[in-house]
Amino acid sequence: MAKIGINIATGSLQQEEIIVGIDLGTTNSLVAIIHPETKQPVALKEHNSSSLVPSVIHFDEFGNVTVGEEAKKYLITEPQNTIFSAKRLMGKSYNDIKDNASFFSYKVIDDASQAMIKVQAGSKFYTPAELSSFILKELKKRAEHILKTPVNKAVITVPAYFNDAQRQATRDAGKLAGLDVLRIVNEPTAASLAYGLGLHKDSGDKTIAVYDLGGGTFDISILKISNGIFEVLSTNGDTYLGGDDIDNSIVQYWLQQAGVSEDELRTNREFAQGIRLQAEAAKIFLSANDVFDTTFNGDSLTITKQILETLVQPLVDKTIVCCTNALKDAGLKKEAIDVVVMVGGSTRVPLVKESVSRFFGKPVNDTVNPDEVVALGAAIQADILAGNNKDVLLLDITPLSLGIETMGGLMDVLIPRNSKIPNKASRQYTTHKDGQSGMKISVYQGERDMVKDNRKLSEFNLTGIPAMPAGLAKVEVSFLINADGILVVKAKELRSGVEQSIEVKAQQDLTDAELEKMLLDSITHASEDIATRALVEARTEGEQLLTTTEKFIQKNITHLSNEEMAQTATAMQALQLALTMTDKDLIHSKVEELNEISRPYAERIMDQAISTAMRGKTV
Ligand code: ADP
Ligand code: MG
Repeated sequence: MAKIGINIATGSLQQEEIIVGIDLGTTNSLVAIIHPETKQPVALKEHNSSSLVPSVIHFDEFGNVTVGEEAKKYLITEPQNTIFSAKRLMGKSYNDIKDNASFFSYKVIDDASQAMIKVQAGSKFYTPAELSSFILKELKKRAEHILKTPVNKAVITVPAYFNDAQRQATRDAGKLAGLDVLRIVNEPTAASLAYGLGLHKDSGDKTIAVYDLGGGTFDISILKISNGIFEVLSTNGDTYLGGDDIDNSIVQYWLQQAGVSEDELRTNREFAQGIRLQAEAAKIFLSANDVFDTTFNGDSLTITKQILETLVQPLVDKTIVCCTNALKDAGLKKEAIDVVVMVGGSTRVPLVKESVSRFFGKPVNDTVNPDEVVALGAAIQADILAGNNKDVLLLDITPLSLGIETMGGLMDVLIPRNSKIPNKASRQYTTHKDGQSGMKISVYQGERDMVKDNRKLSEFNLTGIPAMPAGLAKVEVSFLINADGILVVKAKELRSGVEQSIEVKAQQDLTDAELEKMLLDSITHASEDIATRALVEARTEGEQLLTTTEKFIQKNITHLSNEEMAQTATAMQALQLALTMTDKDLIHSKVEELNEISRPYAERIMDQAISTAMRGKTV
């Protein structure tokens, strides 16, 4: 086992600069800070406008980008260039979302692989992190305009169920927007902080249910706080359930009332856009009134609160089923919940509040603005990191990210900076050559995307991996930082049990100035770093596709027509050529072309193989 002594500079960060809290939402995003005078969290907004920025991005034909309310106008009229719900794609491959692909009215690239998703707008390809970075850039710009000071540091929230890849994509988005992401915080944790829960380490244990009904998603999280430390006991929800569904059911109701066919929505985009907006307005109005009445295209549109409630009831019932499941997973009865926190714009619907309160058998916490509560909590977390909130237990944290080198010299982070100590993380890797018997594990510290720009802590070889085809070995690399801040790195091939150990001498501690420089470099080089990463990843994907296609053809040569052979050869050559250049979009499009050509015969040959295998067997 390799033991590496690393410098874990702990304690609070200096507050020279403002640190903002950001709620990067599926439907809406916003920024909050701790007000310098009142010391209370506030959401930032320009005079007379909302603090919410719709999470919508529009690309025009010249490559100009608009974000927010402006972009929302194009949702229905220019669906192919208007990206919404980018958060749903964060850290995902096409395989992860293919069952819901029709939800996205823009082009999500289907390369039928495990590779990270890309979205096409015009002739350009964007990763979800790039898309989210446009939203973060807009938020940063607004915050700087309102505060009249540069904003470079942020705490960003994510759903509690986000995995490593999704959290990493969120960090990348922050970096691309020029933000130093001090910490990624769970949304329900942030909401609890905004209600003052868990702020004092001696306030006793509490079990909290956070009910979050937003625009398109529903999340229920059960948290436990003890000694100021939050633990997620369970999460549940529905990633396709929210306020949008209420709007749609109002539209359906109106169409029925007017005897208008649903086809009208598909054929008349202006009409569809207009009536959806009226439906949302009606829903919002009815959260505080009894009857909504307006004229639209010369016709009258009416709906009462009572009718709305009959439309909303089935949606609420679904969320209650999720709550029951979350409690079950946490191993708790309803009575064990001390506090119920309401989050998300859709919890403003009175029926939602009443139903949740009835289910848990206690009044719900709804005094903090449900659209802003997550961002407000993020601002409180930022203030804690800034060392301004002395009552709060500040846990030891890692000052820089820790990771290993992967294909093409990329840094793969296992423990992100500002993680709590002690901490552990592990990830599986595989071989990329047939019969590969060794794997070099190089451990780095730093925030840059290429390891050559980071600090090497140690290196060792895992040897003795038994011969097997590329991609079959399972090498688990695990990092463990103990309470003393010592990092232990272990590599183990899981199929054979081969494990490697090596002693590494302790590294010199980093000075504060060196640390500061490393952080600054990662921000100033963010876009070139991420561009390099994207190119390296595209090349790796391209090279792997060439190898697998080559192997597949050799094995199945007799099943391919001459035309298929010729087309494949041409596409492979084109991809090979693209790999020698530095245009990642070109590589992606050549990968796509080759996939398009090989998919039909690959499927045909697989089907044949399956039916051959089934023959003679009783099923
Ligand atoms: P997300 O967290 O998914 O980004 P939000 O928490 O901002 O979303 O919630 C947005 C949803 O809240 C939208 O569907 C919006 O119509 C709805 N909403 C906002 N205000 C109200 C209101 N007063 N009554 C009912 N729904 C509302
Ligand atoms: Mg939200």
